[in-house]
Amino acid sequence: MSYSESLSKLLGSIGAEEGSVLEAESKGRSFKGTLMPHHEFSAPDVLILKVKSGYNVGIRIYDDSTVKVVDKPIARVRKEVTVEPKKGLPKIVLIGTGGTIASYVDYRTGAVHPALSTSDMVNAVPEIRDVANIEARVLFSIFSENMNVDNWQKLADAVAEEINNGADAVIIPHGTDTMGYTAAALSFMLPDVPKPVVLVGAQRSSDRPSSDASSNLMAAARFCTKGNRAGVFVIMHDTPGDDSFAVHTGTRVRKMHTSRRDAFRSINVLPVAHIDRDGNIRFTGEGRPVSDGKAEVRNAMDGNTILLQFYPGMDPALFEGPIMKSRGIVIAGSGLGHVNENMVPLIKKACDNGAVVVATSQCLNGRTNLEVYNTGRDMLSAGAITVLDMLPETAYVKLMWALANTKDTEAAKAVMQTPLAGEMSDRRTIDV
Ligand code: GLU
Repeated sequence: MSYSESLSKLLGSIGAEEGSVLEAESKGRSFKGTLMPHHEFSAPDVLILKVKSGYNVGIRIYDDSTVKVVDKPIARVRKEVTVEPKKGLPKIVLIGTGGTIASYVDYRTGAVHPALSTSDMVNAVPEIRDVANIEARVLFSIFSENMNVDNWQKLADAVAEEINNGADAVIIPHGTDTMGYTAAALSFMLPDVPKPVVLVGAQRSSDRPSSDASSNLMAAARFCTKGNRAGVFVIMHDTPGDDSFAVHTGTRVRKMHTSRRDAFRSINVLPVAHIDRDGNIRFTGEGRPVSDGKAEVRNAMDGNTILLQFYPGMDPALFEGPIMKSRGIVIAGSGLGHVNENMVPLIKKACDNGAVVVATSQCLNGRTNLEVYNTGRDMLSAGAITVLDMLPETAYVKLMWALANTKDTEAAKAVMQTPLAGEMSDRRTIDV
């Protein structure tokens, strides 16, 4: 919600903008303070000013109220630092996409802004230049809930371009909300990528004292330069403190908390490695070493794919339209992968129509199995397939990819059931 039309007009007519210092007089009381963006807990005709004490006050503006600008917003000074590359250090390219890691809070107004330059981020972590020569470019400046298939495709192209132009690693600062989806998309779009491609995020923006932006970035740079592991990874705090960072396989990771710094967890596998605050890396298993090969891009995706969450009482009549329009349907089912019996005929109709229906589990942990209960067996007879312990969102991304990169439904199903980027396994490595 923003300010009311009349209040916005009034602010526009006096040239007031976020951060301007205003004097407002309303019903005999006067206030002076910095103009704040409107927030949803306040009525649209209430002007929000941050007064000298630091508190925000709301002033209802009537027809006879007066508002005038007494000072312009203070411009933020943003310095670009040019650094000469050091001989012998590996080259890491940062490709900025946006999110909290690339945002700063403007304390004059309290609003969160996307940083315009990825080098701003690098400059906030000067020690990163001791481990690598850093080049930075901004590809997008968006919150990750606004990422889409087109963004994933452009990002895959950009990563491959940088690697094929000599980057030893690529780090992608990204919003945390959908970082797992992007990591999964890149994992399939960049098959056997020869270098590390690491997504990093932050739960607190870079200029907050509690920010995790710099420490995650530094852990990523250390993994990229010392890890000797190729592939797509996510690196985030492993603990609430700044003492341990987890390296997750790009197809196996999920944001499991809305705000904690250690929100990201590997699901159904152990993290690839842990990094301590001094940069020591402890691997938990084998992996693919880096190589000198070229990065290949296979980024065709079939956008006619949907991801649905089953719930008790799910009514097939509500879903017939979207399901019958889609070539691929991933269902995060209950328990072993189930839906209710009313949904089974719709699954059959979709499969008979040539769609691929993939059953995953909203339990997240553990494998799906449709052979245990009647419901599951009916789903299998209807044509649904299972993909072991693959995350629903990874299955969704992979299905888009499989449908676009195979010649027919059967081939797409076979691809879905073949591990390509560590996304599935029938071995139980951990029990959580
Ligand atoms: N929702 C935003 C995003 O995912 C901000 C959250 C964040 O970056 O952590 O981009």
